[in-house]
Amino acid sequence: MKKIITCIGIRPDIIRLSQILKKLDTYFNNIIVDSGQHYDYNLNKIFYDQLNVRIPEYNLNIKSGTHATQVAKLMIEFEKVLIKEIPEFVIVLGDNNSSLGFALATSKLNIPLVHIEAGMRSKNWIMPEEKNRVVIDHLADMNICYLPEHRENLLREGLNPRRCWVVGNPIIEVVQAVKTSFQQDSPFYLVTCHRAENIEIKENLNKVLTFLSKLHQRKSVEIKFILMPKTKIMMEKYGFEFPEGVKPIPPQGFLEFLGMEKEAKLVLTDSGTVVEECAIFGTPCLTIRESTERIDLIALGVNSLTGMNVEQMLDAAELALSHKIEPVTHYGKNISDKICNILIGNSLNFSKNLER
Ligand code: UDP
Repeated sequence: MKKIITCIGIRPDIIRLSQILKKLDTYFNNIIVDSGQHYDYNLNKIFYDQLNVRIPEYNLNIKSGTHATQVAKLMIEFEKVLIKEIPEFVIVLGDNNSSLGFALATSKLNIPLVHIEAGMRSKNWIMPEEKNRVVIDHLADMNICYLPEHRENLLREGLNPRRCWVVGNPIIEVVQAVKTSFQQDSPFYLVTCHRAENIEIKENLNKVLTFLSKLHQRKSVEIKFILMPKTKIMMEKYGFEFPEGVKPIPPQGFLEFLGMEKEAKLVLTDSGTVVEECAIFGTPCLTIRESTERIDLIALGVNSLTGMNVEQMLDAAELALSHKIEPVTHYGKNISDKICNILIGNSLNFSKNLER
């Protein structure tokens, strides 16, 4: 069996890779490395437990820090693992700082790199995730995309078509594999909001809170706000309080949160994964951002982009609540199998693939 390494950066990576890892373990001698970027029990270990993902062989323990600190620490620690293990190739997923550090360390040692979730583009260069995506896709020797339009993005940027594959979106397999656990009879809206542009810029955080306050005044529906540690710190720094009707709650386990997404009358989020899950359930969902890389969901009418104007946000909420959303069907099937199939076939030619 070929020895490979699969990298886990943050919470959504554990979730999205959960089914793929089970397949990779069958066909490869697969070593799992967790960055340790997320380290609280309810941001890390709970997802291993709930999704039956085995404990990684390595945890690099990089924790929080500035972008440069995180990426640099990760490169230093991961390089040691790579030199010790000498894998045939390395798999990274997504666009977080850990993914970038994993990708840079791998590529610098000329070890073949596979990027899952390749080719998504928001075209918003201010977003740290957009910079990470572009760099990782261009470093990767094999890009695995969810949708044909993501592959098109890569080809427009000049990448070799033979390195770019389309397999569907693995989140569909994850949602289908689990049983959700949450029930509440009274209606509620659900919020997740922790992207840098929404919580670090004082004006934007203020706009989000004003929007939620006005939404509650209009609809009198309870708003549950998942409060991430970083958002809590920024709220305290700026002296903001949660408005009446907006209830902060701690990060939830996956099964509980997925159940909440299913039950909520409306989900308001700046997360990429949450919008996909809502689209699968047919739950009305708004993206609280000015740009998105999930353009497919906008085009299908199952998600709207609010922009950062409070009146416009309220209009978007009214619109989302006014019509029935059909669950999406374009995420495909047998995604983990397809990924293994591509990797088994191409792992034989990876040395040649290092030629651009
Ligand atoms: N999630 C969770 N508990 C929560 C909030 C989110 O399990 O309290 C899950 C959610 O279902 C989704 C993922 O975490 O699968 C989204 O994570 P995040 O917003 O951090 O990442 P992004 O999607 O922006 O990469």
